[in-house]
Amino acid sequence: MENCIFCKILNKEIPSKIIYEDETCFAINDINPKAKKHILVIPKKHIESLNEVDDFDLIKKMFEAIKKINKQENITHFRTQINTGKLAGQEVMHLHIHILSN
Ligand code: 5GP
Ligand code: ZN
Repeated sequence: MENCIFCKILNKEIPSKIIYEDETCFAINDINPKAKKHILVIPKKHIESLNEVDDFDLIKKMFEAIKKINKQENITHFRTQINTGKLAGQEVMHLHIHILSN
């Protein structure tokens, strides 16, 4: 999707360290961390938000990825967050799950 920051990161049009990747999703460190560790888990397919998800197998796969990322990053205590819609604070209109750990 044009003009989507996360699609541009995935396509290497914007440099960003990808800390995890599988066939469904990838993960990056948040540029403006709101916890000691703040990771974004992002599906490779451009989907605007949770409201546009039809196949919830994607969400299952994203949580499976979260478990692997947490193991990789030594995270045992964490919160997950999905902001859905601008009025709920969603800034990037490409679905993502926040992992926040202090
Ligand atoms: P949202 O508010 O949409 O749920 O979260 C979007 C998140 O993406 C924010 O926490 C913001 O700091 C992060 N973010 C925005 N642009 C970039 C970027 O270019 N690189 C990285 N790594 N994170 C970004
Ligand atoms: Zn996108």
